Amino acid sequence: MSVDAEIVGSGPNGLAAAIELARAGLTVRVHEAEPTIGGGTRSAELTLPGFTNDLCSAIHPLAAGSPYFRTLPLKEHGLEWIHPDVPLAHPLDDGTAAILHRSVDETARGLGDDGGAYTRLFGPLVARWDELLPEVTRPMLHLPRHPFLLARFGVPAMFPATMTARLFSTTRARALLAGLAAHSFLPLDAPFTTAFALMLGISGHAVGWPMPRGGSQKIADALTSYLRALGGEITTDDRIDVWAQLGKARAYLFDTSPRALERIAGDKLNTTYRRVLRGYKYGPGVFKVDYALAGPVPWRAAECRRAGTVHLGGTLEEIAAGEKQVARGEHPKRPFVLVAQQSVFDPTRAPLGMHTLWTYCHVPNGSTENMTARIEAQIERFAPGFGDLVLKRSVMTTRDVESHNANYIGGDISAGWHGGLQFIARPTWSTDPYATPAREIYLCSAATPPGAGVHGLSGYNAAQSALRRSFS
Ligand SMILES: Cc1cc2nc3c(=O)[nH]c(=O)nc-3n(C[C@H](O)[C@H](O)[C@H](O)COP(=O)(O)OP(=O)(O)OC[C@H]3O[C@@H](n4cnc5c(N)ncnc54)[C@H](O)[C@@H]3O)c2cc1C
Repeated sequence: MSVDAEIVGSGPNGLAAAIELARAGLTVRVHEAEPTIGGGTRSAELTLPGFTNDLCSAIHPLAAGSPYFRTLPLKEHGLEWIHPDVPLAHPLDDGTAAILHRSVDETARGLGDDGGAYTRLFGPLVARWDELLPEVTRPMLHLPRHPFLLARFGVPAMFPATMTARLFSTTRARALLAGLAAHSFLPLDAPFTTAFALMLGISGHAVGWPMPRGGSQKIADALTSYLRALGGEITTDDRIDVWAQLGKARAYLFDTSPRALERIAGDKLNTTYRRVLRGYKYGPGVFKVDYALAGPVPWRAAECRRAGTVHLGGTLEEIAAGEKQVARGEHPKRPFVLVAQQSVFDPTRAPLGMHTLWTYCHVPNGSTENMTARIEAQIERFAPGFGDLVLKRSVMTTRDVESHNANYIGGDISAGWHGGLQFIARPTWSTDPYATPAREIYLCSAATPPGAGVHGLSGYNAAQSALRRSFS
């Protein structure tokens, strides 16, 4: 049976694109290479029976705050958000921790002498987040509705995090900023690293850093359930390698890497655009360890026990040095480690009294180095006795990450490097980067604006482009 639109890939963007087209009354079919639906939003018993680990994403300010997901009846389709007591803790060697609270004022109070500078940087942007959000989640090349507000975000966003950190004098505030900026996978002295710190910090205050009850898979399950209710079709174990596998349709949307789009669409795309896709760069990868634990992590700083996410790496200087090494193709001795402790707030994730733990660190693209000991040394540093709690661990090198999801080339979970011009040109510098030179073909993955994260906005924006170009 032919459909109006064929979609390759069932990540949050593929599902969002399919839903938006189905809501417009079109027939859609999603082809998923893996046996399970959801791409970067999947959960599984990776360690022991009864422990639900997240295969990829864990913490979801971008999904909970997504202006597109908010229009969908995902709650009716089983999605429930759990907010930890505090979004983020960043422990230090003195046994204390910098805390990002929901409230800007409370966060500022915890930062002592830097409270004022923190409030001046984040406060006005948090207050007008609802107006700012539509500006920063569309292609950069657009006519802003709130130019002054966008400038208030955009000017500091362009700076390297190491320069922005000069606004602060305390180790705590500088470390907190560094941990947020390190989500960029860039050296912290690279332009635009402040953009990541601002986006994640503001969303922590304005939305929170929640997790879905039952695991990230629940986001994919809710999107799938709604899509099916709209009549959409999804096939799994259905990897598209060549164009001939796709049925006849009026539009084809690719929730894939630019590399896969180039390979599959082949000479349906012109030479110049194929060269752009081939030249698209991939950034550092991740080394991931998931745990089944006999008890909660014994953090030395008690506040860490109240946080959904914990950033491990100590001072700004230490995190900056580690990220610089990764960018040079080296493996830091003390990597920056991202930790999520979902089961502390969601008892469905592990048997009574036991816990899951989700961790990863950055490594060079394609790395095969085993970073388990270095990740565990960082956890022990801030939580002595952690090792005694480990019942089972699941370890993924960059190769394993890519083998679970072809979009994460060399373990790059951001679907592309954020450095240089690629920060603004994903994959091209255009008012409609979703459209390709072939009128019926679109790219809708995180390789398009607004980029990585579970928010569905690339899929939504691509579907809008398709509705304008292919279906009007
Ligand atoms: C370890 C890890 C941690 C993360 N942490 C977070 C987090 O905490 N919060 C957050 O918001 N984001 C996080 N992310 C990022 C987030 O998961 C991604 O940015 C997001 O899922 C991208 O969505 P997408 O739809 O563009 O692509 P994906 O979710 O990557 O989905 C792409 C889908 O396309 C399928 N596919 C690819 N090629 C083909 C083909 N040829 N044929 C058929 N199917 C194909 C893949 O199998 C996959 O299912 C994390 C990712 C990883 C891996």
